[in-house]
Amino acid sequence: MRIINLASGSDGNVTYLENEGVKVLVDAGLSASEITNRLAIIGVKPTEIDAIFLTHDHIDHTKGIDVFSNKYNTPVFAHEKVWNSFDYKARRMSATNRKAFADEFTYKNLDIKPVEIPHDVDCFGFSFINNDKKVSILTDLGHTNDRILGSIANSQLVYLEANYDKKLLMESVRYPLSLKRRIDGPNGHLSNSASCDAIDFLARTGTRQIVLSHLSKENNRPELAYSFMCDNLSPRGIKEGEDIKIDVASTKPGVFFRLR
Ligand SMILES: [Zn+2]
Ligand SMILES: [Zn+2]
Repeated sequence: MRIINLASGSDGNVTYLENEGVKVLVDAGLSASEITNRLAIIGVKPTEIDAIFLTHDHIDHTKGIDVFSNKYNTPVFAHEKVWNSFDYKARRMSATNRKAFADEFTYKNLDIKPVEIPHDVDCFGFSFINNDKKVSILTDLGHTNDRILGSIANSQLVYLEANYDKKLLMESVRYPLSLKRRIDGPNGHLSNSASCDAIDFLARTGTRQIVLSHLSKENNRPELAYSFMCDNLSPRGIKEGEDIKIDVASTKPGVFFRLR
């Protein structure tokens, strides 16, 4: 299984996942032409993408989804709740490429386990499972709970949101108080601190690799998120580089992982 970040953050999210010839994207939050450009960097043609899995209807996840799907005849899988609230972009896609699911399902050689997560619209995380390999993608959530963490437990690798540093968010002069409250609220985004608590749980349930993702460009920085995790996990007996490896997914294609 190969997992490659093509884009992560407030300006667009696209993750590539490949398992024994099956090639999929999670979200399509860049223009279709930019997704194609970034796929070319990793040697993948857009026509080779078997399917796109959509987490939710926010533009940083859906920007190019209709154009890409129509141009390359790519099926898009989203939970029926997401389709029900999806806007005009969904209506531009062919009905045959709009695939709804309500529960766990199998797509080619991947078992897909969705988990509903608290955000300001209907939103889902995904686990992709093949035999003993399990990768989870969990971004755009206001908080975690036992149900969510239980669903992604035993993943070897987790793309986990670390959206904002609380101090930077609260001190920001660019964000009105109402927006700060929405981001920091139970249906907003995951702070570095909340993400750290989730990593604490995941490190104790088999996860060996965390990719901090969906960082706010205003209220977080890659080195800050990384050092926050190291500094706060160490007193809890979890050492980065020994007990768990932590990387940061940036706005540009970068982090690349292979599970054997
Ligand atoms: Zn987002
Ligand atoms: Zn969102």
